[in-house]
Amino acid sequence: MFQVKAYSATSKTSPLAAASIPRRTPNDHDVQIEILFCGICHSDLHYARDEWNADMPAIYPCVPGHEIVGRVAKVGSAVTKHKPGDLVGVGCMVDSDRTCPNCKEGLEQFCPSQVLTYGGPDKHGTAPVTYGGYSDTIVVDEHFVLSIPASLDLAGAAPLLCAGITTYSPLRHWGVGKGKKVGIVGLGGLGHMGVKFAHAFGAHTVVFTTSPSKKEDALRLGADEVVISKNANEMQKHAGSFDFILDAVAAQHDINAYIQLLARDGNITMVGAPEKPLSVGVFGLIMGRRSFSGSPIGGIDETQEMLNFCGEHNITSDVEVIPIQKVNEAYERILNSDVKYRFSIDMASLKAE
Ligand code: NAP
Ligand code: ZN
Repeated sequence: MFQVKAYSATSKTSPLAAASIPRRTPNDHDVQIEILFCGICHSDLHYARDEWNADMPAIYPCVPGHEIVGRVAKVGSAVTKHKPGDLVGVGCMVDSDRTCPNCKEGLEQFCPSQVLTYGGPDKHGTAPVTYGGYSDTIVVDEHFVLSIPASLDLAGAAPLLCAGITTYSPLRHWGVGKGKKVGIVGLGGLGHMGVKFAHAFGAHTVVFTTSPSKKEDALRLGADEVVISKNANEMQKHAGSFDFILDAVAAQHDINAYIQLLARDGNITMVGAPEKPLSVGVFGLIMGRRSFSGSPIGGIDETQEMLNFCGEHNITSDVEVIPIQKVNEAYERILNSDVKYRFSIDMASLKAE
């Protein structure tokens, strides 16, 4: 074991602060990564403040961060996928059982023994739970380490590891492409990646936002139309017309207003994970044989496919790069929907701690 620098929260009300945490000495299958950038996902905030207590209680101290990009520092003797100096990424998972039907299909995100990048059981006994990417170093099994296309800007590539795959996967699963009308609800970190992908897949893309000030950005990011969701008339114009809607909202909102916008057999998928249950009016589903579903991140193979797609199409997240010392301020700004459109932490700033 060795100690590394990190930022951690020690309770749901304490701000994140500098800390020293243990990492395991790399075993034969491990990759030791010097972290260069880590995106800030709204999930980091939900978790650090224990907002998901009912489903995923937080364990403290917690080190959030699952949008990790870095450079390989060392590899174990059996590692074949990566070598020192490679640019790599780590997303929301660092382990799974590799033997269950989900893992065998490359769908590790559904593995019952999946280990999340932070707050998961640490099978190696290094610490009570896994610690995430708000740190200068991480050690991860090579299977869960992705290759980052060399052409991508690294600060903007970090958010692909969660916001990217979480939107890419359901858009692919539900067949979004040419000839489809697709809605993206909430122009935040996930939402703006959803717009870029839906546009790149050739769909007619409509953004729903509560923030009129984001309209121009939505069009620039690839939207064909923008709807201010608080305006009932604007919403009504789209009634019964969508093949698919991706909902990336982090807070309470009226889901039925969007179910009404689906065409017959249309689907709305939640990737946003609000703290409290949403109320669904079933008649909206019954009358159009519509469906309401959810989707978690994506498997390792699909994450690599998404990264390669981004490399080919030069897609990255629009980021505001900050030093780690501004992370608490960034959390408050995220709560005010005041980020365009993802914070990416420059981990070199941790050296000053
Ligand atoms: P974010 O950057 O904070 O974006 C959320 C957006 O939702 C905001 O920018 C805002 O967009 C909209 N919004 C916020 N409050 C709202 C309200 N009260 N009513 C309606 N719209 C509101 O968050 P994020 O990082 O993209 O994450 C979004 C959600 O996805 C979080 O709950 C996160 O935990 C979850 N998540 C899930 C997965 C998964 O695997 N399923 C993975 C990552 C994250 P406008 O200003 O455009 O309205
Ligand atoms: Zn995330």
